[in-house]
Amino acid sequence: MANSRFEYVKDFEQPDGLLPNTWIVVRIDGRGFHKLSNHYQFIKPNDRRALDLMNAAAVEVMKELPDLCIAYGVSDEFSFVFHPSCQLFERRNAKIVTTIVSTFTAYYIHKWAEFFPSTPLKPPYLPSFDGRAVIYPSSAILRDYMSWRQVDCHINNLYNTTFWTMVQQGGMSNTDAEQELKGTVSSDKNEILFKRFGINYNNEEEIYKKGSVLYRQFELQEPKVAQSEEEGSAVPQAETSRSQQDKLKRLRRKAQVVVDHIDIIKDDFWLRRPWILS
Ligand code: ATP
Ligand code: ATP
Ligand code: MG
Ligand code: MG
Ligand code: MG
Ligand code: MG
Ligand code: MG
Repeated sequence: MANSRFEYVKDFEQPDGLLPNTWIVVRIDGRGFHKLSNHYQFIKPNDRRALDLMNAAAVEVMKELPDLCIAYGVSDEFSFVFHPSCQLFERRNAKIVTTIVSTFTAYYIHKWAEFFPSTPLKPPYLPSFDGRAVIYPSSAILRDYMSWRQVDCHINNLYNTTFWTMVQQGGMSNTDAEQELKGTVSSDKNEILFKRFGINYNNEEEIYKKGSVLYRQFELQEPKVAQSEEEGSAVPQAETSRSQQDKLKRLRRKAQVVVDHIDIIKDDFWLRRPWILS
């Protein structure tokens, strides 16, 4: 029933529900962080404080949204993954994306001083993030998405490490270093690092090479099968799945969110942690 003659304007809102039963990935990315990182003098190519701040903000997002099963971060971006069963905001796109973006941004700013105690934030250089949701129809494609981001991390980090070593240790100008790196492949960059600067890229820190993976750490001895049998017998189907979902939600809420720097392209990571995609 209409409360006023103005209420018809509500009908102009477009439905934006994301396809049911699909993985939802929300990727956020810092707006103009090239400039922002220069302004606050981030150490190049990798400022550890800035990465730790990104991770700290993302951990809080995971804690606030138990529907999230995994997140992956590199540079000024983070991807947050919702399980296909997620019903948050009735899967409305704008609601989901804006909640992730603003929650992340709020914590990023709130925690800034913890990681940059002597460099206070000052307008107009305030961090903001854009965000988008993409749906993926299978866990295989979701894993390819995650692999895509980690490969990107590797390619960019190898380039940036080589570029900044040539500039910082080799005394080259930015333009000269860029020129020399044009058209080089991975092995060329590894060779420049090793032959000219004695740097073995493999020994660089894992957080720089692999990015950051956030997930919930459960007690590993959990008897998953026994649990569903015990609950499944007497109760009707819908109720079973709901109570199981509630149980899962409680478990998720309680679980510790860990930050790992580890390969997520090979099967090993996923096989050892079957609960992440289950
Ligand atoms: P856009 O608004 O289009 O995203 P951008 O300037 O943020 O533009 P990106 O492609 O997102 O461009 O790149 C982010 C940039 O932020 C990097 O290229 C790098 O210069 C800087 N940056 C982000 N994180 C760090 C970090 N931890 N240490 C040093 N520099 C960083
Ligand atoms: P949702 O997450 O669905 O938006 P909500 O609790 O934010 O839930 P809204 O319909 O957005 O609900 O309503 C916002 C509520 O916040 C108001 O009903 C009111 O209780 C409170 N509120 C907002 N602004 C003020 C204010 N300036 N003074 C007092 N209360 C406020
Ligand atoms: Mg961008
Ligand atoms: Mg950016
Ligand atoms: Mg970026
Ligand atoms: Mg509200
Ligand atoms: Mg409101």
